[in-house]
Amino acid sequence: MSNLISKKIRGFRDILPSEANKFIFIENIINKMMLSYNAEQVRLPALESLNLFKRSIGETSDIVTKEMYSFDDRNGDTLCMIPEGTASCLRLALENNLIYDRGPKKKRLYYIAPMFRHERPQKGRYRQFTQFGVEFYGDQSYHDDIDLLLFISNLFINLDINDIKLHLNTIGCNNDRQRYSSKLIEYFSRYENHFTDEQKKTLSKNPLRLLDTKDPSLQDIVSSAPSIDDFINKNAKQNFDLIKNELSNLNIAFVHDTKLVRGLDYYNDLVFEWKTSRLGSQDAVCAGGRYDQLSSIIGDKEIPAVGFAMGLDRVVELFEDKNTFINIGLANISKKNHSIHKLVQYIRDLDCDFKLKIMDKNKTLTKQIKQADKEQCELLIIVGDNEISNNRLTVKHLRAEQKDRNVSLAEIKDIILESS
Ligand code: ATP
Ligand code: MG
Repeated sequence: MSNLISKKIRGFRDILPSEANKFIFIENIINKMMLSYNAEQVRLPALESLNLFKRSIGETSDIVTKEMYSFDDRNGDTLCMIPEGTASCLRLALENNLIYDRGPKKKRLYYIAPMFRHERPQKGRYRQFTQFGVEFYGDQSYHDDIDLLLFISNLFINLDINDIKLHLNTIGCNNDRQRYSSKLIEYFSRYENHFTDEQKKTLSKNPLRLLDTKDPSLQDIVSSAPSIDDFINKNAKQNFDLIKNELSNLNIAFVHDTKLVRGLDYYNDLVFEWKTSRLGSQDAVCAGGRYDQLSSIIGDKEIPAVGFAMGLDRVVELFEDKNTFINIGLANISKKNHSIHKLVQYIRDLDCDFKLKIMDKNKTLTKQIKQADKEQCELLIIVGDNEISNNRLTVKHLRAEQKDRNVSLAEIKDIILESS
């Protein structure tokens, strides 16, 4: 098409039916599973105040310094397209009194929403992408951490996605990280001539972020850096051991990755990422952790929380399409111009999953059969004048070696189920 008045904007993408179908399939599984975890869906607004993210993710984070779509609106308010859901969901929960009632209230929320980041577009990295996020509020015990990881693990099992591994770490409390930061500054300063001006700034403001760098030239320096493990307080370590033990009991494989610190400011104790080797450098599929202080930064209440966000575009990329429903064709060869709307409605109302494709009535039966075959139909339901007067249908099997059958309306459902 050369005469379109405009084409899509760089970094944004059109999701066509074959991919949208995978989103639908995955979202259906998510919605069903979330019920059994007692989590409820919320819908986040696409715009928030820019301050919400500056205060929560951190002024020096990549997202806030480089990736925000922010602007002043007509009232002069500084807004942004949401780059992530955790801060936004917590803002929603606090503002609507969902998680506090004279004390922290337990609540589990989830969202599936578009996020916006001005990043360098490449496969698996878009400027608008969909995150599925889950947040468990009000419980500080490691059992919520486990339940969350169990959910993610089961979701991947249900989606039959195997090449994926859980990496986890503990980043302890503020105090631990401060002591570790000083040590990191001391270490990285020895290599300062390898750093860009921006990396030098990160080093002075938040050296932990350098561990998260994607710059290949720093990988050796980062891998020899001191480990956060030596700075973690005893309680956090014990708690982390409990988590690891329980994961082993549950047969959830994991790697203790002492370099995993996450690029956002609000985490404490448990942090995790699920990584795959199948998506090149866009290897992070899901990331999260505990963030017990975020609610006192955003609001004035202390409400412990743990959550994650999963990049659904990347999950869709990993997901192998399984034909989840069959195609059924309907050929109308009635000469008397009978209306078949009632019959079509009857078939559509059968309680089973299929896609009904109505063939082109102006074609001969032979051509309609060819059309159904081309459109990957499993069955072709043929309706002619005889069928209409007798309330019967002719069914042709296009993929299986079976004779055509003349059946009553009541029988059609079983035939569809047999072929599914
Ligand atoms: P990455 O390391 O790939 O930049 P991130 O640490 O910035 O990821 P998070 O902010 O933790 O990502 O977001 C959670 C998940 O959202 C990621 O694990 C990834 O699957 C997905 N995601 C993040 N940014 C993008 C993007 N630009 N395009 C597509 N998916 C993304
Ligand atoms: Mg990123």
